Amino acid sequence: MARYTGAVCKLCRREGMKLYLKGDRCFTDKCSVGRRAYAPGQHGMTRKKPSGYGMQLREKQKVKRVYGILENQFRLLFAEADRQKGVTGETLLRLLELRLDNVVYRMGFGDSRKEARQLVRHGHFIVNGKKVNIPSYEVKLNDLIAVKASSKASEKFKALAEEATAKTAPQWLSVNAEMMEARVITLPAREDIDIPIEEHLIVELYSR
Ligand code: SF4
Repeated sequence: MARYTGAVCKLCRREGMKLYLKGDRCFTDKCSVGRRAYAPGQHGMTRKKPSGYGMQLREKQKVKRVYGILENQFRLLFAEADRQKGVTGETLLRLLELRLDNVVYRMGFGDSRKEARQLVRHGHFIVNGKKVNIPSYEVKLNDLIAVKASSKASEKFKALAEEATAKTAPQWLSVNAEMMEARVITLPAREDIDIPIEEHLIVELYSR
């Protein structure tokens, strides 16, 4: 499965904001956004204000980077959001939130979506009792997502569960960190998604 393997802090600097791609480090003064508050590259310090198209493009890149997905997959997801009833931008964000790797991250297992994706890929999670190791798997309303029985006993997952108890889950997810499971009790609404994204710019970009 294709994925971005370059330096992730550069991505935050390019977007001019913290995208929280590195877990704990993002909350320390080692974060590059604070230390080098300009875009990477030779002309990073002299970039001009972006055009309308530039702003739309940056918004799309920001969302892709937050959720860690590449262009083709994003395009397919947008097409799916466009097909569904409702506000396309909001549907797009809902589909992104319902990706299994994001749900695991929202459960509090993993300091970043990247770490959560790794846990899914390694087959540690089950959905409604069946093993799923596909990070892009879309969970549905009432699905039960849990750590598989053999992984629950490991020291790693005991530590992850302890960390998860201290984290706050979104309202649409009912998490039982001790049991290492969560249920989707409602679909994520726009106000549940705490990332500063202007999704209408992405819709405008694809409507060109
Ligand atoms: Fe982004 Fe985190 Fe790196 Fe800061 S430390 S630049 S928030 S990935």
